[in-house]
Amino acid sequence: MDKLRRAAWEAGLDAVSVTHVKPQTYLKEFMQEAQDEGRYSQFAAPDIDLRITPTKAFPKAKSIITAAVAYRTVDPGTAPKMHGTISRSAWGRDYHKVLKEAFTRLITFLQEEYGVREWLIAVDDTPLVERALSAQSGLAIIGPNCAAYVQPYGSWVFLGELLVDVELEPSSPENTGPPCDKCDLRCVKACPTNALIGPGLIDARRCLSYLTQKTGTFPEELRDRLGSRLWGCDTCQHVCPANRAAQKSRHSDFEPIVGPHFPLMELLGLTKNEYQQIFGETSIAWRGKNVLQRNACIVLGNQRAEEALPLLKQTAAGHPSEVVREAAQWAIKRITRPSNVPGA
Ligand code: SF4
Ligand code: SF4
Repeated sequence: MDKLRRAAWEAGLDAVSVTHVKPQTYLKEFMQEAQDEGRYSQFAAPDIDLRITPTKAFPKAKSIITAAVAYRTVDPGTAPKMHGTISRSAWGRDYHKVLKEAFTRLITFLQEEYGVREWLIAVDDTPLVERALSAQSGLAIIGPNCAAYVQPYGSWVFLGELLVDVELEPSSPENTGPPCDKCDLRCVKACPTNALIGPGLIDARRCLSYLTQKTGTFPEELRDRLGSRLWGCDTCQHVCPANRAAQKSRHSDFEPIVGPHFPLMELLGLTKNEYQQIFGETSIAWRGKNVLQRNACIVLGNQRAEEALPLLKQTAAGHPSEVVREAAQWAIKRITRPSNVPGA
């Protein structure tokens, strides 16, 4: 394991662990309940058996190497007016690419040392339950905020897996996790929408991180809770004492390209090409500009940004997306409504 850890570190992976490929039947009831109660994320594959059976993703799999890459760089500070906050995970280069490149660098070692011949790299692009695999392997401990903690990096880590066709010795759990016993569920209490309905239980329909990425109309009853969040939400991670002391990332890939804050008026005026030029290297690019422009309108409304009214009116009248036009109309109403009106 020490050899594997050293090779993984040199390849760019900050921590690795190994686990078996048996079906994660212990997750089934929990996931079924989330599905039955409508809390299940639309980004996840609906077939639970597919998700909890690693060999369905890669039939030749005999072991899984789970890995974490730390991404904490600068500290975000507060968003200036007319700016929206971008989640720390999206500031730098797209982590999917960074992790895949690191796993690929590790392959040569695995071929020479263990005789690996076939493999599958998974970074958010298979049905696998990645956080659960990281916990099962001892790489991470899942906090009450549902985030994966890999000390000394806190929960500022990206996860990925490498499924290989040889049997490797599973790791024994080593992670210490966050100091939850001394903290009184600060993360759960800080959630602005009560999306954390209990320790380790999240209702995706209320989670701002999920909602800022989802297409379609943003739920009206949660728009004021969005505050200045343009993309993602780090609140339940920011308040965690383990994260304040977390070790910074050694990877220059995660230095901000577009974060921590982005000017909203500029965002609203971007064409598709300009959007790609600015966000193309980041993990935000996949979602396309309309979702971000929808969020930008809501944040301008929340900031009661009168300076933005002419641009919002133009957006409400002429944006090609109905969802963005509706968000701009909502923002105009919010900015022009007297602040003593209930719900204003
Ligand atoms: S905020 Fe507190 S309860 Fe939540 S994960 Fe961190 S230490 Fe645990
Ligand atoms: S990411 Fe934000 S909205 Fe989602 S559970 Fe955490 S604090 Fe709540």
